[in-house]
Amino acid sequence: MTVITEEELGNPAIHQYLFKLVGAEGLELLHRWSNPEYSHRWLEAKLGNAEVKDTDKARFLAETRLENADLSAVERSDEEIADITGINLNSVRHTLYNLYEHRLAEYRRIKNNETGWLTYLWVMRMDHLKDVLRSEMEVAVGKLSARLRYDETNDFYQCKNCGITTTFNAAMNTNFACPQCGSMLEHFDDELLVTALRKRVEKMQTALENA
Ligand SMILES: [Zn+2]
Repeated sequence: MTVITEEELGNPAIHQYLFKLVGAEGLELLHRWSNPEYSHRWLEAKLGNAEVKDTDKARFLAETRLENADLSAVERSDEEIADITGINLNSVRHTLYNLYEHRLAEYRRIKNNETGWLTYLWVMRMDHLKDVLRSEMEVAVGKLSARLRYDETNDFYQCKNCGITTTFNAAMNTNFACPQCGSMLEHFDDELLVTALRKRVEKMQTALENA
């Protein structure tokens, strides 16, 4: 199963991640593309359309007989996806490339031997979602941990005038005078910041373990 489920879309972590990646319209695209009702409606319209070629109708007819999960996982061109979901083609392409860059969609390229035209057929790879989320979160935790270590091991000094914060070593170099206005620097207690940062890192690590 490669499409996204309503349950996954309702998961706050997944929702937030995908929203950042593809935006509200991209999320709506995923929702409709995964929903077999949209595909069924589209197939019925195709089968009832006199302009659709008989060879294509045979394919569409076969698709109407698929199980819902299989129907949503059928390879589609970007134009078909736009047609099925009612979302404009540019937005569909934009979403597909973003998903592709994060391993959440894949394509297969086929060449029409008569016209030489290339068609890209897409599938969703939402089965990669947890791995992708996990590795992006690991990077974020790594960055926060490094920041935490830096804050824990350094002593900070601040100018009350300009708000400049500097390390003990840098403050020593200017004899504890502000490099900008010359006022005396005061010791800056970053205990609150460190505590907040530590909590955030712990929270993310727990979320990672449970993902
Ligand atoms: Zn200053």
